[in-house]
Amino acid sequence: MISRVETASAPTPFVEKAPLEAYVAPAKPSLVGLSRSELADVLGEVGVPAAQRKMRVQQLWHWIYYRGFTDFDGMTTMSKELRAALAERYTVARPEVVAEQVSVDGTRKWLLRLPGDPDSKLPHDVECVYIPDTERGTLCVSSQVGCTLTCTFCHTGTQRLVRNLTAGEIAGQVLAARDRLGDWPGGTRPTDGVIPTGERCVTNIVMMGMGEPLYNFDAVRDAILIMADGEGLGISKRRITLSTSGVVPNIERAGTEIGCMLAISLHAVRDELRNELVPLNRKYPIAQLMEACRNYPGASNAKRITFEYVMLKDVNDSIEDAKALVRLLKGIPAKINLIPFNPWPGTKYECSDWDQIEKFSQVVFDAGYASPVRTPRGRDIFAACGQLKSATEKMTARERLALRAMAMTD
Ligand code: SAH
Ligand code: SF4
Repeated sequence: MISRVETASAPTPFVEKAPLEAYVAPAKPSLVGLSRSELADVLGEVGVPAAQRKMRVQQLWHWIYYRGFTDFDGMTTMSKELRAALAERYTVARPEVVAEQVSVDGTRKWLLRLPGDPDSKLPHDVECVYIPDTERGTLCVSSQVGCTLTCTFCHTGTQRLVRNLTAGEIAGQVLAARDRLGDWPGGTRPTDGVIPTGERCVTNIVMMGMGEPLYNFDAVRDAILIMADGEGLGISKRRITLSTSGVVPNIERAGTEIGCMLAISLHAVRDELRNELVPLNRKYPIAQLMEACRNYPGASNAKRITFEYVMLKDVNDSIEDAKALVRLLKGIPAKINLIPFNPWPGTKYECSDWDQIEKFSQVVFDAGYASPVRTPRGRDIFAACGQLKSATEKMTARERLALRAMAMTD
């Protein structure tokens, strides 16, 4: 069921509630997220002879990732028998979209429901955000339910429930978004909000939703390789950005094994302050992080590393900090993104005054970094950076009890 909530004429922010029906986890596994060789194994299991498997994998890949089919029925290049054999054991399901919100600025946020722990019927959920522009459409994808890290300014970091998403659940967010946007060949696009003028609605991916992607390395790598596959989703690695709070040992691996664009959540230029804002800094301090960036495979002036810097009033927004930031990044092919802090209920931080953001950004601009301030999008639907948090976590104690009771009596 999709509860669609339009906020176009009602800018007052609100929190959506997940429908409280008992959740039934899918009975069969989905093929979404499997590599070509894993698909070949599946085909072997259902009796496809070895000599045919490569061709059949190509066909499946095309139907799933190029055409966006949601079941085997219409995959007409394969025999009826093969389609039935696959359907008996598998699906091509993606995460279920249970709520959609549309912002006044055209940003869309989807709440996606995923299976929870095997011994409980409680589902998990994550959010996925689509930010359209006239020339491009960016999908902000989650890599974990919650996050094990506890950056003090980030709402996701306050969430207790954490689990890694599978490669299928990560790549499946792109499929779910394309389903909702009619973004498959021959699809019908929405008529409300901004939609990019090119051939596709989803042109760029940022791994900037919930979770720390480099703490779920294998699944994130496999999912990004699927997103970038030229015979399927076809989103170039130059249009896929992985954002990390600084898991130093996996930065080089990201360069060699994934090869996508890199963003670093820097937010402070002194260890003392970064230890507080991004506690992972105690493990991997700024000097180590910068060294990993200097060595990032493939970084060049044409393929710069983005440094994200959230603007926190009277915390990290002085002119001295701006100058130190420019000094710190000297010699690294870098872009700077100043992100106005997105407040959330209960936070101790405030966003820097606009005046101060302008002064800070002038220092950065004078040092040669173009348009450093990222305009916040989707604020009215709580879809902005760092505001994502699972809806299950947002439920009141009473709602949780009701959900638990329902799961137990089932
Ligand atoms: N865990 C990864 C990716 C997800 S967070 C990371 O930390 O990089 C995506 C970006 O949003 C990060 O730069 C993060 O620091 C920033 N962010 C988190 N909370 C925010 C908030 N409340 N306002 C603005 N940006 C925030
Ligand atoms: Fe996790 Fe990133 Fe939020 Fe830090 S900023 S708590 S790493 S999601």
